[in-house]
Amino acid sequence: MKFQQVYFVVDDAFRLLWIGGEWDESALANGGSDARSNEVLSTSLLTHITDEPTRRATQTMAEVVQQTQQALRIGYRCDSPTLKRRYLMTIQPMKDNRVLFVHDLRDVQSFPTSFSPWRHEAGAAELKCSFCCSVRLPDADWTPPESLTAPHPEAVDFTLCPNCETRINEAVAALRDGRKSGLSTTGGYGPEGELT
Ligand SMILES: [Zn+2]
Repeated sequence: MKFQQVYFVVDDAFRLLWIGGEWDESALANGGSDARSNEVLSTSLLTHITDEPTRRATQTMAEVVQQTQQALRIGYRCDSPTLKRRYLMTIQPMKDNRVLFVHDLRDVQSFPTSFSPWRHEAGAAELKCSFCCSVRLPDADWTPPESLTAPHPEAVDFTLCPNCETRINEAVAALRDGRKSGLSTTGGYGPEGELT
């Protein structure tokens, strides 16, 4: 099993000030980083995120938490080839414009059949969402990996799928509009913004 919980604090320049939990095993960088916590302290969180859409979304979510001083909660999936894993990410305001990210493992299930491992390859024709793990093969729709009729591609370009972009934008808008975060029940997501 991968990490149960990892948490870290960044400053307003996204520098990692403090890391707890199991960063060393975290899949934050889509499995593409073997960064160890003592080597990543004071580096920018954003440099550990593989793809631009996810980097931009992470930045936007942290900034709205800083601006509104409200917590943002959002569910995401981070699978391994053998396990379907759901996490809840909470971004909380702290003093001095710092924010705390907490990633909690909420649910883990074995896939009936393991996938062959995948790796990030910028520019690959096959896309994979870093937030829900869905895959888009050329000329096909976004599909959860367990529903693929073809084998899981070995090389994928990580990005955000339209559903996850929408979900993130809604969570950000909810904070900007002063509504309580994470209470949207639209789109099949649970009471804490979790993927269902
Ligand atoms: Zn997605």
